[in-house]
Amino acid sequence: MEIITPSAVIETPESHIEDYARLLERFGRTSHPTDGPISDESASAFLRRYAIELGHESLLEHCVVSARFICDRSASHQLVRHRLGSYTQESQRVSDYSASGIRVICPPTIRQDAARFTAWKDAVERAESAYRTLLAAGAPPEDARAVLPNCTKTELVATFNLRQWRHVFIQRALNPRAQWQIRELMTDLLKQLVGLLPSVFGDLQQKILYRLVFEDTKNIPAKD
Ligand SMILES: Cc1cc2nc3c(=O)[nH]c(=O)nc-3n(C[C@H](O)[C@H](O)[C@H](O)COP(=O)(O)OP(=O)(O)OC[C@H]3O[C@@H](n4cnc5c(N)ncnc54)[C@H](O)[C@@H]3O)c2cc1C
Repeated sequence: MEIITPSAVIETPESHIEDYARLLERFGRTSHPTDGPISDESASAFLRRYAIELGHESLLEHCVVSARFICDRSASHQLVRHRLGSYTQESQRVSDYSASGIRVICPPTIRQDAARFTAWKDAVERAESAYRTLLAAGAPPEDARAVLPNCTKTELVATFNLRQWRHVFIQRALNPRAQWQIRELMTDLLKQLVGLLPSVFGDLQQKILYRLVFEDTKNIPAKD
């Protein structure tokens, strides 16, 4: 058994994503041709105003971004609930983990407490041992996996259009009730996308910062 850290990386080439702003401005100008002249700098302002402030989000559906997730099976199950996405995921039916041992993700609330960690490690090791025993007894990997824990590592690539990424970030990164692992992965991805396409994702990053500063300290300023 090996404990690993979850991660999320963008697979779409950065240069493509950086070009999306200009491409989307060109598409958007089809319906708003009089919204000022097109220049090297006009795309960001146009997208911020037209797609984000005025809410013409369907424009964002023209472009997609793919990301690779290394997470556990409980996080991947939450991710694939998002229906407007395309997914390719590691198959536990064909993978045989008996030689390499299973890779797992340990939740921070368990890792940080000695008694909890001992109980968790013991349970995972027993599951791994049962998995090996089943394979040795002739069970196929697709059936032996029935005893593997939820914290078993998986890997998947997810592709969403930009509008759907915004929706997923609102549910999984901005939402303080989202589960820790998917929230961490989505917060990290949002940060990466803000760097590449600030006009489309910058407002969401600002909302996260607002939550960290005010809501988490129960110090939300009164509305004026
Ligand atoms: C904190 C949290 C806790 C959760 N807990 C649970 C739980 O306990 N049990 C559970 O089962 N799920 C749970 N979920 C999952 C949740 O109910 C949704 O299934 C999931 O978040 C996908 O969101 P969605 O349906 O908005 O959007 P997506 O599937 O991402 O789709 C995007 C949008 O497209 C539109 N859309 C997609 N499909 C249709 C359709 N068929 N008809 C009409 N419009 C459509 C909707 O506007 C939708 O919001 C939880 C989610 C979160 C964030």
